[in-house]
Amino acid sequence: MEPKFDMTIGGNRTATEHYSPIRNPSTGHVVGHAAIGATRHLDSAIAAARDAFNTWRLSSDLTRREACRAIAKVCLDNAGELAELLTLEQGKPLKGLGSEFELAGCAAWANATADLSLAAKVLQNNESGRIEMHRVPIGVVGSITPWNWPLMIAIWHLVPAIRTGNTVVIKPSPFTPLSTLRLVQLINEVLPAGVVNVISGGDELGAALSRHPSVGKMVFTGSTATGRKVMESAAASLKLLTLELGGNDAGIVLPDADPKAIAERLFWGAFVNSGQTCGALKRLYVHDSIYSAVCDALVDVAKSVRMGDGMDTTNVLGPIQNERQFKRVVELVDEARASGAAILTGGHPVGRGYFYPVTLVADIEEGTRLVDEEQFGPVLPIIRYSDVDDAIRRANGTEYGLDASVWGRDRIAAEEVAQKLEAGTVWINKHAEIAPHIPMGGIKSSGIGVEFGEEGLAAYTTIKIINAAV
Ligand code: NAD
Repeated sequence: MEPKFDMTIGGNRTATEHYSPIRNPSTGHVVGHAAIGATRHLDSAIAAARDAFNTWRLSSDLTRREACRAIAKVCLDNAGELAELLTLEQGKPLKGLGSEFELAGCAAWANATADLSLAAKVLQNNESGRIEMHRVPIGVVGSITPWNWPLMIAIWHLVPAIRTGNTVVIKPSPFTPLSTLRLVQLINEVLPAGVVNVISGGDELGAALSRHPSVGKMVFTGSTATGRKVMESAAASLKLLTLELGGNDAGIVLPDADPKAIAERLFWGAFVNSGQTCGALKRLYVHDSIYSAVCDALVDVAKSVRMGDGMDTTNVLGPIQNERQFKRVVELVDEARASGAAILTGGHPVGRGYFYPVTLVADIEEGTRLVDEEQFGPVLPIIRYSDVDDAIRRANGTEYGLDASVWGRDRIAAEEVAQKLEAGTVWINKHAEIAPHIPMGGIKSSGIGVEFGEEGLAAYTTIKIINAAV
């Protein structure tokens, strides 16, 4: 019998009557069983977090810094176990930009967040009085995470929350709950009881968390459709919100780009985590004059990359994580093919599990779902353009505004295009590169607010003014 993974509420491992089997998307084998929490578990997790808040909100800056560092150490000390669990439930390879990379990222983000601070500001200090502005915690933060980067996104939510004196109830995706359940168990060995709690279960538990009147802020990473629901539920008690939602990132390759020199970076910008990354390159606009050369260079990279079971350390790409997403990718490519697009490589499911090969699709344009919608899988549509302003207009012609990129040798020309693109981040000659000191967030339907950096940290606080007479 594969292991059972319990919730952690108020520092205690909490079992339930019901567990759901979690399957490895590469093999279909059961990896473990995740607790299915009920409303009463949600209520007690929020009560435990509320209790712990009374003390944690008064903890010193040093204590909170040390807590973040302790979480980083937990990630590093248990990297072997957690990375393997992550690969087994999510599918991503252990190596390359896979699970070991994700664990290293968790530690790096936790340590970097320990080093951030939001000092009080003196707004006025004169004969009429002294006025100070402080950043104070909100209370209980509810966190809901997706299945693509489960541990990294859990760390992005909970570490800044506790750094600023809040306590947390996290609900991982029902597709990948095991690694988060285990991570929070381990975190509870180094943090006071109730500061970080985890509950697992279906989507309805997420809805109940975002509706709960005792939660002061929701941080949600997932699809735009669900983000809208979280915002609606949060409205009743006017919760603060950070929403990191879907994207349909465009890249524009300018006529002066060198196809061979950029191919590898373009490829990994699109295919990191088999394309299941919010900020992956999802539509590539290439100037007519170098269209064939860019397509050929990308096909060459695709042929050199091994996809397969993530536990085999020679593989650098894994399967699609779940059946729903797999079927969607199959459908989008089949529709593109039927509409006359050219499949340069890939295009049909391979083997068992949810494996879909790296797929490059040419001679395609807007009006096809593969271009208009977020594919969230190992498929890249390559779109031809002849006028740069037209490419910018088409890149901006989406409800999304997460990221974008511009590729070319003339830096000034590339920056001019970057200024015109509607996105939270625009990279030049790279894509999907993030860091803990650089704020990240989407505009339009890609989200509200930012994570990372001082701006991201401030989102876990409210402003408090102390206004003293002389
Ligand atoms: P999803 O929206 O289906 O689910 C995300 C989480 O929301 C899960 O934990 C789910 O149980 C929960 N949920 C479902 N219904 C809910 C409800 N009504 N109320 C509250 N919670 C509910 O997303 P997903 O399929 O897990 O993730 C893929 C999506 O996430 C993609 O669109 C991707 O672009 C996006 N994403 C965005 C970022 C970012 O930083 N912008 C990062 C990663 C993923």
